[in-house]
Amino acid sequence: MGRITQGDLAPLNERLEASTPAEIIGWAADLFGPRLAILSAMQKAGTVVCHMAHAAGLKVDVLFVDTGVHFQETYDTRDRVAQEYGLNVVSLAPEETMAEQTSRLGVLYLSKDGQEQCCDLRKSQPLQRVKGRYDAFLASLRRGDGEKRAKVPILAVDPAMNLLRVNALANLSAADLEAYVREQQVIVNPLHSQGYTTVGCNRCTTPVLPDEPKRAGRWRHLGPWAMYCGINPTDLSGGTSQAISLPDELIDRLLNRNVDFAI
Ligand code: SF4
Repeated sequence: MGRITQGDLAPLNERLEASTPAEIIGWAADLFGPRLAILSAMQKAGTVVCHMAHAAGLKVDVLFVDTGVHFQETYDTRDRVAQEYGLNVVSLAPEETMAEQTSRLGVLYLSKDGQEQCCDLRKSQPLQRVKGRYDAFLASLRRGDGEKRAKVPILAVDPAMNLLRVNALANLSAADLEAYVREQQVIVNPLHSQGYTTVGCNRCTTPVLPDEPKRAGRWRHLGPWAMYCGINPTDLSGGTSQAISLPDELIDRLLNRNVDFAI
């Protein structure tokens, strides 16, 4: 195994800036094979990534972190993606139902500390259970969403999961995203047409007014300091500062290194 840092990825990230989302997805599929998975919460950008994988004939796993308290529209979207795109959707659930968690710990999501604990129990820990199964996640973060996403790199290390995040849509504008959805008739979570600019758990997500920031509907009851759950390393300050470990041969192919010796 070798170590790779965010800095090691800089030249490759620069090259990938010239690639389209479909080209980046194809590149990732060739490089990582079955050790590539899509990570999607079934929001619009996520179903666009699923559609692009489907259009390319890929048979990648789609990981859906099922907190148990998603909106029915989100579950319906997940099921449509599995059926209509022929992708293997894997739902990752927490150990306890929300009712069991609440009877043990109380209603966590009403306080800032409780929200962090709840997101850890219901999102981060279920995702951790597939650690080691994949070398890369295809994600759908876009710079056009602004705030902590404004400078998201195409490739980012994910030290918590020890893999690479491939943000294939990083450069896709909102207008181009909408055009793709329209032209390709992509499956879209119906909540987006009901005022939900982003979609998360039903306990912590509300619609957004036209003059509010896109993520204003997430944890609205906690104020603007809790706008990200922490499942994406690039949303965290210092989230990509640690190295990850990948097989040497994979790092050589990733960085296009031609090593003909071993020490
Ligand atoms: S978004 Fe809310 S309900 Fe969902 S896991 Fe986080 S705190 Fe819990």
